Amino acid sequence: MKKIDCKILSILVLVLLIPYLSYLSGLESNQEIIENNSVTVFDENRAKNKVNTLLEENKDKELLINASYDKFFYLAFKNEGGNTHFVIDAKTGEETTILNYIKEGQRQAFFNKIKELLYLKYPKFIASFLEGEERIRDVELLENELIIYYNKEGIEPALEEELFLHVNYNEVKDYLDFTLVLDSTYENENGYQYDKNKKTIAFTFDDGPNGEKTNQLVNILEENKAHATFFMVGNRMEYGRETILNVLNKGNEIGSHSYAHQNLKRMSLATVLEGEKRTREIYKSITGKELLYTRPPYGNITSQIKKNLDTIFINWSLDTEDWLHRDKDKVVEAVLKDVEDGDIILMHDLYDSTIEAVEELLPILYADGYQVVSISELANLKGVTLEEHQLYYNLKEV
Ligand SMILES: [Zn+2]
Repeated sequence: MKKIDCKILSILVLVLLIPYLSYLSGLESNQEIIENNSVTVFDENRAKNKVNTLLEENKDKELLINASYDKFFYLAFKNEGGNTHFVIDAKTGEETTILNYIKEGQRQAFFNKIKELLYLKYPKFIASFLEGEERIRDVELLENELIIYYNKEGIEPALEEELFLHVNYNEVKDYLDFTLVLDSTYENENGYQYDKNKKTIAFTFDDGPNGEKTNQLVNILEENKAHATFFMVGNRMEYGRETILNVLNKGNEIGSHSYAHQNLKRMSLATVLEGEKRTREIYKSITGKELLYTRPPYGNITSQIKKNLDTIFINWSLDTEDWLHRDKDKVVEAVLKDVEDGDIILMHDLYDSTIEAVEELLPILYADGYQVVSISELANLKGVTLEEHQLYYNLKEV
């Protein structure tokens, strides 16, 4: 009985085992079929060989990054005059670019985001030049961000500075098709910022507000990352509420240009003080803010006014005489001929020729390393504290 039992048992075991073994072998062959039939064969060795070749070829350079992403390998070496880097596709082992790892269907969205960031960082004449994908020269990967380098050949006016954009992964996380290290403390890109180390001048526009012309100037300033101070006439302010608010909303500032644009030298002190008080009241009723600066019409003040009117007096160091010539080219020439760091430039938001001149000047000044700002920003960047009862012509460093 015992022997028979054993035999039966072993037969039973075999009978049960055979289908299982054939099932296992079937699994194996199925797996092979799936691999052979898949569209792209994952040849990791090819990519790894390529990485090793590059490591060998660049062994005299300092290796900065040797990283493996989901779909590519990334190598960066330190090089004189900029780093070199390589993107190796994990499937093909070919050298490629980061721009080939944008999610399907997200390419347009990705480049729209890049365009938005370009316009935040650069004046319009640069951003509009760079917005096409064909301007991209190279893309570098860093831990939390990518850097897009641009080709600036052909931009007018020609620029010395290199053009590039740092893009934090938080800005493009929805579009890139590889694992990103997100920066938890990151706040949205705030774009262009004024720089204490750059040459800086203030643009000032007198005699407004002047409706559409003032607004046109505000737009041109905005497109060029520039600000200005508008010295406005009190009795015109009431008719220009919307314009005044637009000027302020775009980061510009407003000063007083007296109540009725009279020569203050020929007026009694009491009338001058009364006019200034009315101007301030009107301005405050519109904006809720105080007027900090006064530019006397024609630049005329007396020591008596200076002493008794509680304000900071601002004249100018460069007069474009735009009101006299009403000629765009003469205004452009007047500025470019004499402009210096710290200048306060006098213009008027009354003439089309002035608007056209500003539109032409701002890119040229930018390319020449200038930033154009309001009086308060100029003082701040130059580290000057403006004081009441003082008259300033420029804010050149002392
Ligand atoms: Zn004036």
